[in-house]
Amino acid sequence: MKKGTLFIISGPSGTGKGTICKRLLEADPDLRLSVSVTTRAPREGEVDGREYFFITREQYLELLESGGLLEHASVYGEKMYGTPREPVVNWLEQGLDVILEIDVQGAFQVRENYPECVLIFILPPSMEELRNRILGRGSETEETMAARLGEAQREIDLSERYDHRVVNGDLEQAVTEVQQIIRSERTKR
Ligand code: 5GP
Repeated sequence: MKKGTLFIISGPSGTGKGTICKRLLEADPDLRLSVSVTTRAPREGEVDGREYFFITREQYLELLESGGLLEHASVYGEKMYGTPREPVVNWLEQGLDVILEIDVQGAFQVRENYPECVLIFILPPSMEELRNRILGRGSETEETMAARLGEAQREIDLSERYDHRVVNGDLEQAVTEVQQIIRSERTKR
């Protein structure tokens, strides 16, 4: 049976990649979204098992050491994120396409093991717009904001190594562009 394709979607937080992924899933029954584990605290409105599995540092280390993570990264210092291996491998085996919404460190780790995966980077229209979007979310202090913008610039610099880059200025247009990429990658395989 034909295996599914692994798509990785990255982009600085605030670029709207979460919204784009949500729209992709609603429109396509053959896509699955991997839910990551994280040691960071839930934001308002986030539900355990939906946006993330919120776990303790001890649980995270246990998963990591037992080989349960496909990739993992520490983002913004001490907070850890990782992709549970089992659901992703099972979906791909079943022929379903899978999206990982992860950062660039994680994306390059996955590409080592799955060189056929497709890397898509979502860019903000400008750094100014990115700052406004993060501010609008209201969950940042001056310090975490500076860290997020610094991290955003580093990620944008590395995005040259991605297969596709999509600017999210207009949401509908960005969703359509990513859908076209997914369609064309599927027909290639
Ligand atoms: P946030 O804390 O804003 O939800 O996510 C921060 C960053 O962590 C984002 O760039 C997001 O894509 C990334 N991220 C979320 N889950 C994972 C994961 O499982 N692995 C890696 N490497 N990065 C992740």
